Amino acid sequence: MPKLGLPSPATLRRYRPGQPALEGPALLGAAPGGRLEKTVRSQLTGAGIEVLSAPVERHAALVFDATGVKDPAELRAVYRFFHPVIRKVGSSGRVVVLGTPPELVEGRERIAQRALEGFVRSVGKELKRGATAQLVYVAEGAEAASESTLRFLLSAKSAFVDAQVIRVGTHTTTAPVPQNWEKPLEGKVALVTGASRGIGAAIAETLARDGAHVVALDIPAQGGDLSTVANRIGGSALQLDITAADAPSKLAEYLTTRHDGVDVVVHNAGITRDKTLGNLTESGWDSVLTVNLAAQLAVNDKLLADKVLKDNGRIVGVSSIAGIAGNVGQTNYATSKAGVIGMVNVGAPQLAEYGGTINAVAPGFIETKMTAAVPLFIREAGRRLSSLGQGGLPVDVAETIAWYANPASAAVNGNVVRVCGQALLGA
Ligand code: NAD
Repeated sequence: MPKLGLPSPATLRRYRPGQPALEGPALLGAAPGGRLEKTVRSQLTGAGIEVLSAPVERHAALVFDATGVKDPAELRAVYRFFHPVIRKVGSSGRVVVLGTPPELVEGRERIAQRALEGFVRSVGKELKRGATAQLVYVAEGAEAASESTLRFLLSAKSAFVDAQVIRVGTHTTTAPVPQNWEKPLEGKVALVTGASRGIGAAIAETLARDGAHVVALDIPAQGGDLSTVANRIGGSALQLDITAADAPSKLAEYLTTRHDGVDVVVHNAGITRDKTLGNLTESGWDSVLTVNLAAQLAVNDKLLADKVLKDNGRIVGVSSIAGIAGNVGQTNYATSKAGVIGMVNVGAPQLAEYGGTINAVAPGFIETKMTAAVPLFIREAGRRLSSLGQGGLPVDVAETIAWYANPASAAVNGNVVRVCGQALLGA
């Protein structure tokens, strides 16, 4: 990275197969009356994590069950747990606060649970050395279904996910436990669009690492790179323009005849045509809205109508922080990416009926060929204006998608998780 006289950001710990679930002990605490502590203790212990009830010099993670907080006055329990130990979080350490989805409770409990967001987002900004903080709202009854989320957030797989609010169990409170946490997608078929390069290639590789047979899709012009990716991961290459009128039916037919259906669909293909609104042509508007939103809706409708998406199937959208915060020169792109969030909102109850889920990632500044072309100072600002003070890698987006795709994440539905290192944009 070129030197601009700025301090070097922390080196983030990233996942390698065989790595322990956590590189050190976790301190676990709970507000009186918490309903998650017991389950979480056994989940963490089962994952091979040393769980402590009293502080030591350094902790790889601090986990606090705040579900017992039923009144704003009881928020003091959160302060009391974290205040003495917050400086004892190790490099790439983890802070996880567990609560109850505010919308599922009433009155003072709802206020208190909602208040946890401000706490976690501030802790994310205060933590140093690549450590992150997250809030996981677990619906009552979904205690056992939160394991895949806890494992993801504590592991190095969530390196660039920071200060996020995740909901577990608002549509279903159960989830199967995979036989092998290292290969949760064994026997599954995953479709990844835009898979010939960048983030899509990383998603294809990560889902294949987790055991899936990946159908890597891209436009015919990208055929060479697409075959390289598909061959490297033992998957299949499918050349198709997703905006073609017959693309949904061709895709449905391909997935049915070759694979008897599909378990995971990742809508990663996306384009930009940046111009300020006054300079933007109608075709510049249409092309972005078509690739980034309309084509995905058409594919979803077909795969659901023809039952090509299997039981416990997964759809994952790729939004963007531009879709949350807006961006100069990106009215078309931000509209399409905010539309992806709408797709998740509408799709979640619909998918729940099929025993499936739909979620999205919203990447921030990710180091790709696209962002390498941005002028140096703007690029440095994009990296630095975040709590982790750096850009993310394509694999960080891919790992978040792999967590959604995991069969054990059946109770993770309707979420939009930013993979942005807590970027200031759209905070
Ligand atoms: P990229 O341009 O490197 O890759 C996108 C891929 O989609 C390309 O291979 C392209 O050929 C394919 N594609 C485009 N139109 C298609 C069509 N009609 N049919 C089939 N395939 C098509 O982009 P990337 O940086 O890897 O981004 C991937 C996704 O992540 C996009 O949806 C993008 O909007 C989103 N995103 C990226 C960033 C970032 O920082 N790079 C940030 C936020 C969101």
